[in-house]
Amino acid sequence: QKSIWVGTNWKMNKGPAEAIADARALAFFRPPEGVRCFLAPPATSLRDVGAVLQDSPLMVGAQNMYWEDNGAWTGEISAPMIAECGASIVVLGHSERRQHFGETDWTVNLKVRAALRHGLRPLICIGDTLDEYEFGVSQETLARQTKIALHGVSQEDLERVLVVYEPVWAIGSAGRPAEPAFVSQIHTTLRGVVKEIAMQGSSVRIPLLYGGSVSRGNIRDYVALPDVDGVLIGRAGWNPADFMDLVESVR
Ligand code: 13P
Repeated sequence: QKSIWVGTNWKMNKGPAEAIADARALAFFRPPEGVRCFLAPPATSLRDVGAVLQDSPLMVGAQNMYWEDNGAWTGEISAPMIAECGASIVVLGHSERRQHFGETDWTVNLKVRAALRHGLRPLICIGDTLDEYEFGVSQETLARQTKIALHGVSQEDLERVLVVYEPVWAIGSAGRPAEPAFVSQIHTTLRGVVKEIAMQGSSVRIPLLYGGSVSRGNIRDYVALPDVDGVLIGRAGWNPADFMDLVESVR
């Protein structure tokens, strides 16, 4: 039976007080066998949430980072800083960062390699825009984003990489969830792309997640797909009770 990853990206929500309270509400939660869970709080709560969840199976992730370790990069945080906060994952290249903060495939690649150098698991977000989807070039965009993000990553490091397909048109309140049949097609293509990147005969199975308007009503439709290894949840996972319920629903 495959492992299933269920994570929630808090985005720019929850100050430290709320983040700590929510982390405490999740600290004694035990996900079902084979379900691997994580939360990605804002950077200001990374350390506190990391401390509260120290003995919990829930993993903690940052939402972004810069690729240099330190230096004159005002406003940025680095991989070693994130690792020191107790986080083991870092979300990279989220479409909100690509759209509003100028991230490109090239900068995502630099960040992926920096995260791996410091022992973090990069969770690489890839996504097609509505235009790309409507013109029928989603597969091309997603293959390009994946190949560039993983450029120069060693075979050994590939084992720590996660990829999440988040269609830009499916994210947030204006989005609509992607049809499971479409996600299935995309993930089968992505499975081929990552197999090509992994060495011939390699047994590395990069977890491929789906994200975009995942809810209690559709989560099982996605994780049931053979090439889907989990989900990244936004809004529906922000409340701790809802998150636990979502996690429990996948097994
Ligand atoms: P929603 O689940 O709120 O659509 O957000 C998805 C997302 O962007 C997770 O990273």
